[in-house]
Amino acid sequence: MPCNKAVFILSLDCEGKWGMADSIQPYHEQYFTTANINGAYTQMLAVLEKYKVPASFAFVSAFTQSSQQFKQHKDLFYNTPKTYHAWLKKFYQDMEAAQYEGWFCPSAMKRVIDAGIHEIASHSCFHRAFLEQELTLEEAKYDFQASQELLTVKPNTFIYPRNLVGFTGLLKKYGYIGYREGKAYKTNIVGRLGNLAAEFNILEKSQTTLAHDANNLAVIPAGFFLNWPQGLRKHVPNSVTQLRWNHILKHAVENNGVVHMWFHPHNFINHPVMVQNFAQIIEKVAQYREQGLLSVMTMQDYSDVKTSTL
Ligand SMILES: [Zn+2]
Repeated sequence: MPCNKAVFILSLDCEGKWGMADSIQPYHEQYFTTANINGAYTQMLAVLEKYKVPASFAFVSAFTQSSQQFKQHKDLFYNTPKTYHAWLKKFYQDMEAAQYEGWFCPSAMKRVIDAGIHEIASHSCFHRAFLEQELTLEEAKYDFQASQELLTVKPNTFIYPRNLVGFTGLLKKYGYIGYREGKAYKTNIVGRLGNLAAEFNILEKSQTTLAHDANNLAVIPAGFFLNWPQGLRKHVPNSVTQLRWNHILKHAVENNGVVHMWFHPHNFINHPVMVQNFAQIIEKVAQYREQGLLSVMTMQDYSDVKTSTL
């Protein structure tokens, strides 16, 4: 069922090193410093504050801990199911060496909360993918349980690690009301070229709203990644990114569509051009909102609306 007005949602996957815990390379050590991460959140929060645009920041619970809190909750990190140990191997090595940077950044969530307008959502406990062929129900339960014990706030919406949707019945059980639709990363070369080609599609359309899933959870349209000018993606001209997003927004306004933008705050690190692109798009969003043509919602707002139309 379409909404009676265009909707813009911004969701951010907040994870530091957890997003690639099993494949940390030496260059990640230079990249994921506390100073770099804090710098990225400063830029993100400044743009959103300037235009008063609320967003959904989905945190990996482990990432929100201080090294002190980690020591207090050590059992939750070390009594994990056996199948988690390969995923956590590098993390355990770094803890032995007291190398905490990139794994923990409590200031990030604190500053998002202090901004006063954003939603804190969940991006799981340790960023392990919820693949039903790899995890048992008990293991998935451990993740949800530990996640809630580590977080100081109760999140209402969820973003799946790697966008791989699984165990949605547990989401319901643990009190979530919605999640971002699964749209798995295409990591092989053909998939990557396809992702890159999409960045040149300046006639991209907004999405339409989706129904609830079998558990009555709101399924929030997966949306579009804001181009991260790294690797092959650095060849996408800024002007093309601007044209693409202008078109998606215009299409939404004309068709009561949904525009869901997502990426990681850490994508801003070393990429001032991406911050500029982001600021221009958010300015446009704020203009449409001023004109009464578009509503800005968090994932929670959107799930609430969807729930109330049942
Ligand atoms: Zn992630």
